[in-house]
Amino acid sequence: MTRNTYPFIRFWICAMAFLLSSNCDTPPPGCPHCSDDLQLPSILPEEVPFRVLQVKWNALNGAPSIDDPSLLCEESFGEVLLNRHLRAGLCNWTQCKILLGPVIGSTTNFGLFDDPDLSVGEAGDVVVNNTALTPELEELAILCDNHWNAQPTGATGLAVRSFVNADGTDSPINGIAFANSGTRPFFAIGDLEFFPNALGDVHRNTERVLAHELGHVLGLCHANGDDGVACNSGFLDFNDFGNLMSGAGSSASSRTLEGEQCDIARTRYANLFFPLADMQNRIVSLLDEGGERFAAADKSVDLYKTMVFNRLSEAGALTVLIGTNGLFTERKNDYWVLLDLDNNVQTGLHGGRIIPGSDQQGVDLALQVEVGDSGKRSNTSLYKAEGSGFQPHSHPREWVRTGLFTSEMFVSSEKECTGTPVFQEIEINLSREALVRFSDTGQVDLSFANGLKLQTISVGTAANGEKVMDKSPERPQTIFLQ
Ligand SMILES: [Zn+2]
Repeated sequence: MTRNTYPFIRFWICAMAFLLSSNCDTPPPGCPHCSDDLQLPSILPEEVPFRVLQVKWNALNGAPSIDDPSLLCEESFGEVLLNRHLRAGLCNWTQCKILLGPVIGSTTNFGLFDDPDLSVGEAGDVVVNNTALTPELEELAILCDNHWNAQPTGATGLAVRSFVNADGTDSPINGIAFANSGTRPFFAIGDLEFFPNALGDVHRNTERVLAHELGHVLGLCHANGDDGVACNSGFLDFNDFGNLMSGAGSSASSRTLEGEQCDIARTRYANLFFPLADMQNRIVSLLDEGGERFAAADKSVDLYKTMVFNRLSEAGALTVLIGTNGLFTERKNDYWVLLDLDNNVQTGLHGGRIIPGSDQQGVDLALQVEVGDSGKRSNTSLYKAEGSGFQPHSHPREWVRTGLFTSEMFVSSEKECTGTPVFQEIEINLSREALVRFSDTGQVDLSFANGLKLQTISVGTAANGEKVMDKSPERPQTIFLQ
């Protein structure tokens, strides 16, 4: 068996055992585990199926549990990470019928990285700030995400030694998550068994924080306070998985979730987090490989990633998700998606005929999303390649639906949890009707048997008045969505 096979089998045995209300192996005394009395049953109706959330782990050298897994009674750092999320799942997320599982397949090597910034703190420490994304955390999130890019489904996790302030002092932050992001569903947790921020049964803290951060990644905030928008409910009882997400109607120290929270957690980017059958073969992630240096004020023009979800058979739409590196400003930006639906340069037109700077040939359909007013306003247009050039076409609203989403960084500490907007995403749902009507031939069978070639291009104005542009990926790329 490969190194990754055994934990996976054990996971399923444990998951099945849990469902049958039996026990998993109880580890020796002193080892962290989710004891029977901490396990929570499902709160969803019987007919609702269990779903598996894959956790794509990464770790930093320097964290005690990573450098010496035997400290947590494990044989490898991979088992430390896997068993942490198994416990977080069995003790919390089974309420929503969510099982936390490993990633399987040929691209499942854990990311193990050296700390990129040794200037502050010990190796494995990460500089954080509870009101802004620090360069070190951003760099690490990108490193982890890129490590797993060939495996676009699931949530990306990072285990670090501990979080520190810019001056090297201990930060009260225990965990960090990017919420409401399809292009960067990322979280990081400290090695809390060794650097607990609260006294008590420290072995349980890491799992509890992990369960909490996964809730944020799945789109949840805290239901208490500020209408559930801000995270200010605080952690009252740190040692019993208390206050998991502060479910509506639950007490602040409860770790119970509500059905409504489960609905959100199971629905947002369901195909990404809980891929059904062969769905994961129909999600493609295209990184922007360019090393642009955009000014902080212009980062919403700086593309991070384009993702394509083939949901034609279930939802009748092709979804394009564009992730940026910043927040929309009052200045207008255009986000273009150029599609060569039959991957044939003989049909369609040169993209340069509608966007100066594009060098894609055979573009059948150009989609433009204008975003202005700091993201409060957007307008989507479709252009079809015709003999005389790209022609705009009016279309029923339901043919193309565009949504703008703000991804927040949540930081969780002993006393509070705060959210800060960090970057924005654009989701475009192109209906089957639009794809057929706007393709060059009008006869696209939508199997994309020949591949689908595309590129996203952003065009905007920088704070200093200059024209700025970015492409994702750097060259138009052919993808297969079957
Ligand atoms: Zn939180």
